[in-house]
Amino acid sequence: MPEKSSLGEPKRPKRPRGRARLIEGKCIACGALCQAECPADAIEMNDRGEPIIILENCIGCKKCVKVCPAAALEMFFTPEEEAVLAELARLGFAKEAPEKEGPVPRVDQSYRGVWVFVEQQNGRAAAVSWELLGAGARLAADLEVDLCAYILGHEIGHLAEEAFAYGAKKVYLVDDPILKNYRTEPYLKASSDLIRKYKPEVVLMGATGLGRDLAGAVATDLHTGLTADCTGLAIDKAGRLLEQTRPAFGGNIMATILTERHRPQMATVRPHVMPKPEPVSGAHGTVVVEPLDMSEDEIRVKVLEVREDEGAANRVDIAGADVLVSGGRGMQGPENYRLLQELADVLGGTVASSRAAVDAGWMPYERQVGQTGKTVRPKVYIACGISGAIQHLVGMQDADLIIAINRDKDAPIFEVAHFGLVGDLFQIVPLLTKRFREMAGKPSDSGNQKG
Ligand SMILES: Cc1cc2nc3c(=O)[nH]c(=O)nc-3n(C[C@H](O)[C@H](O)[C@H](O)COP(=O)(O)OP(=O)(O)OC[C@H]3O[C@@H](n4cnc5c(N)ncnc54)[C@H](O)[C@@H]3O)c2cc1C
Repeated sequence: MPEKSSLGEPKRPKRPRGRARLIEGKCIACGALCQAECPADAIEMNDRGEPIIILENCIGCKKCVKVCPAAALEMFFTPEEEAVLAELARLGFAKEAPEKEGPVPRVDQSYRGVWVFVEQQNGRAAAVSWELLGAGARLAADLEVDLCAYILGHEIGHLAEEAFAYGAKKVYLVDDPILKNYRTEPYLKASSDLIRKYKPEVVLMGATGLGRDLAGAVATDLHTGLTADCTGLAIDKAGRLLEQTRPAFGGNIMATILTERHRPQMATVRPHVMPKPEPVSGAHGTVVVEPLDMSEDEIRVKVLEVREDEGAANRVDIAGADVLVSGGRGMQGPENYRLLQELADVLGGTVASSRAAVDAGWMPYERQVGQTGKTVRPKVYIACGISGAIQHLVGMQDADLIIAINRDKDAPIFEVAHFGLVGDLFQIVPLLTKRFREMAGKPSDSGNQKG
């Protein structure tokens, strides 16, 4: 017989809260978010960055479960607690009401259209702008709106024609001597004024030095969200929401971020992440010219002199290379990169590397491919002695052809490779070089194999 209360009703047993536990194999070592959230000092971290729950301290608050980005924690109950829960259910005591989230406020539905900021210097557009017009065209088609470009600068009218060729239907131009060289204040003013007036629902910018500076300033000024360094963009048609996908928590997960409550939805994308569309010559569209409502006196930053970066010509540009021969920790030392250089030379390519090789001091940072290095989209990417960690893959997985050489047949790089060679790179790379040399009709050099 269940216990009775003073009113003769069955007494409600205390609902057990349970305790947290780790689900094996699911922790992504995100950086101890669970430990930071725990109010009861019930979590310690092991060497692999995974939580150890101290059960006697756990108060069953579920905060760690809620904050875990990988759903790697759950609540569990002892058999006695399970019995109490069953009894509660039998007595008809409903489960705790789920916590209510505030209603999502309605966004301003007058915002319409997809805009791409066309970044330019000295009247030459950054290629990422055209890549973004390619991506923007798909978003605009899904939203059934026009794809527009906006261009700021001085004597930049010719870029409107280029923007039409790459898919823009309308171009907003602000052409003023004040905008000749990039400065945050006037570019911010011109951007915000245009966006406030014409209300695009999506604004995309390149994640270049200039684009990162401008996008952050504009999003702050317009009180809207900004997702930096997106690797994927799509549209949730029902909600007219831009799905902005990017690596999160050190690249261990891909997060899709929504700007539900504010407009415009703003995102930056790194160069070479999106394919550049083929230009259509003779394409036409509408040009809307707007003035810059700002005078030089209002701008605190003055450009006194513009100096060209003299070292730039000698710098290696792995992001622009068609063929990359890339080496990782499997190269075993800097001296062995000459094997990759020889293969790259015969293919007309460039040598790149993983971060492990950069961290070891074998290769300079400018050659690093990946999340904290460069994003590349070559025609051919040959990965030698690279395991294929997610942070590396996000930087190269869109290459047209990926060839991986690794002695571990289970290396994750093979999951993205079109061709995989399982074996010792010190044997395989010189053989490839020799074969390609023969195919190119060049004399072969057989003294390359590591002893
Ligand atoms: C926040 C963050 C950002 C990061 N950013 C980047 C980034 O931008 N770029 C990046 O690359 N990494 C990045 N990393 C590091 C990444 O997680 C990996 O540690 C790194 O990519 C591993 O480099 P690797 O593949 O060269 O080395 P390893 O993972 O050690 O792999 C070496 C591979 O070489 C193979 N091998 C060894 N000897 C031979 C041989 N003789 N023949 C054939 N195969 C051989 C092995 O089987 C192994 O698969 C980042 C990590 C974090 C946490």
